[in-house]
Amino acid sequence: MLTLTFLGVGSAFAKRNLHSNALVEAWTRGPQAQTKPDDTLLIDFGGTGPTALYQLKQKSGFTYLDRDGDINYPALRRLFITHLHADHIAGLEELASRNMHHFIDPHTRRGFRPKITSSPKVLDSLWQHSLGGGLSALPNHVATLADYFDVAAVHPRGQGSPDSFRLLDRYEFAPVPTDHIRIFAPFDWPSFGLLITDRSSGDSVLYSGDTRFNRDWSEGLMRPAKLIFHDVQLTDADDCVHALLSELRILPETIRSKMWLYHYGDQWDDPAYAFVADDFAGFVQPQTRYTLFA
Ligand SMILES: [Zn+2]
Ligand SMILES: [Zn+2]
Repeated sequence: MLTLTFLGVGSAFAKRNLHSNALVEAWTRGPQAQTKPDDTLLIDFGGTGPTALYQLKQKSGFTYLDRDGDINYPALRRLFITHLHADHIAGLEELASRNMHHFIDPHTRRGFRPKITSSPKVLDSLWQHSLGGGLSALPNHVATLADYFDVAAVHPRGQGSPDSFRLLDRYEFAPVPTDHIRIFAPFDWPSFGLLITDRSSGDSVLYSGDTRFNRDWSEGLMRPAKLIFHDVQLTDADDCVHALLSELRILPETIRSKMWLYHYGDQWDDPAYAFVADDFAGFVQPQTRYTLFA
C-alpha cells in the first residue's frame, strides 16, 4: 500500500494553512496492521514543515514520527525536492541539522543522513544558494550537501540515468518537468512534479508540484491517472505561475472528478468556492492520509 498525507495544503503565502509538503508512506500490509510504514518519502519541506510535523506526530497513526517529544527526523528516509521556493525547502536546514547533531548512531558516531533526490541542477543550487549559507560551517570543516544527505540525483526522462527511483521496489517515482517560473522562457528554471506508478498494477498517480496550467498533460498524464493532486490558484491573475482554478475547470469531468486541489489560498472556504466539492474530487484536507494504491 502507498499513502500520501499533506503536512499542509496552503499556498506559499497562506496563513490559515501550512505549506504544501507531503509525506508518502509505503507499507507491506498497511496502516491498520502496522505502527509505522516500511519506507517513507517527504515531498518538499518548507518553512512551516517542522511545525506541521510537530502537529502530525500527535495524531493517531503518526506517532512513529515522535521520539521523546521531539520530531523523529530519521523516520523520514528520503526527500524529493520539487523546486527551490521557500515554501518547499525552508524547513530543510532544521531537518539536516537535527539529523546530524541530535540523532547520532552510537556505532558510527555519525548523524542520520536521509537520501535527498531531485535533478542535479536543483541539488547543486539548493546547496549553493540556500542551505550552504547556514549549514556549510562546522567546527574545523567546511561542509557540503553530502555531509548531511545521501545525495541521489534523478534526471528528467530522456536527460540521463537514473530517471526514476522506487520505494519497496514496487512504487516508482519519476520527475515530470513543470512550467512554473519562467526567467526568459518556459521550463528554463528547474521545477518538477512526480508521476507515481504502482509497478504491480500499472496504476499511476500524478502529483503536479508547482506548475502553470499545462494543457499537454491532460491526455498523456491526467487521463490514465487514477488520482491527481494539482496545485491551484483560486483567483485569476495575468501570467500566474500556478494553475488557475478557472483553467482547471475547463478540463473534462472524467479528469476533474479524480483531481484533488492543493496549494490553495486562505479564501478556500468562501461560499464562492463551494462548487469545488462538486466539480473536482475536492480541496485536499491537511494531515489526512489518502490511499494512492491499496
Ligand atoms: Zn509553492
Ligand atoms: Zn513555487
